[in-house]
Amino acid sequence: MVRIFFVSIVCLSFFAANAQTSIAPFELQDAEIRMDFIHHFSQPTPVRHWEISDTVDAWKRWELVENYSFGKDRGSIPMIADLQSLHPYFRDKVIELIRICRSKGIELAIVETYRTATKQNEYRSMGRRYTRVRAGFSNHQYGLAVDIVPVIKSVPQWHNIRLWKKLGPIGERLGLRWGGRWGRFFDPGHFEWTAGVGTYHLVQGKFPIIPKAALYPCLAEDLKELQRHWRAWEMEQAAVARKEFTRTTVKHPATKLANGGNE
Ligand SMILES: [Zn+2]
Repeated sequence: MVRIFFVSIVCLSFFAANAQTSIAPFELQDAEIRMDFIHHFSQPTPVRHWEISDTVDAWKRWELVENYSFGKDRGSIPMIADLQSLHPYFRDKVIELIRICRSKGIELAIVETYRTATKQNEYRSMGRRYTRVRAGFSNHQYGLAVDIVPVIKSVPQWHNIRLWKKLGPIGERLGLRWGGRWGRFFDPGHFEWTAGVGTYHLVQGKFPIIPKAALYPCLAEDLKELQRHWRAWEMEQAAVARKEFTRTTVKHPATKLANGGNE
């Protein structure tokens, strides 16, 4: 991930040297501000070690959160809660959402950003209260969705309708789709952006076309790097899930029998 940033900087420098326009220096500065913001925002704040030389293993340092950190049972597979794991354009929108909310006195905590197919399947197995969609069909699997929760003095405000009603429209004004509008599956902590691109195309590896693409000159490269990291996480969590499955079925052999063997 660090490499993404590094490559971005390199690309921006290249553009600065070659482009006719003068937007590149501004962009470089802008990128620094963004990074600075990522460094300083987090709940809780982890110590991060950004190393320029790091390429292959950057995903291992993505921030995770405990599944009980926010007062809700979210299964046994770790949740990835790192803004760096998101699509760069969407990530910047989320940062903007956090910044605006903070300026209005609302502190947000990141609950989950990118989600592996394995984790999605775990939610599915936990019932419809968690999710209705199977692996590959949630925008979290493409770095295009985030789950957040407002916090007051470190206490998550899941049931604070007044706060949700304030922050939902802020996200919508940024062009995000807000789960607080979903009547049948009210999900006020969920924000996503796909520019209308459906799962059918996302599954095939096609990403939405971003507005102001000139601001993201290395987007294609960044997304390739991200996808590599996503795959690495997928393998990691699939291995965790297999171990967990073995442990629970050995411990409770009846579980396997009760569930039958069809699915
Ligand atoms: Zn979500």
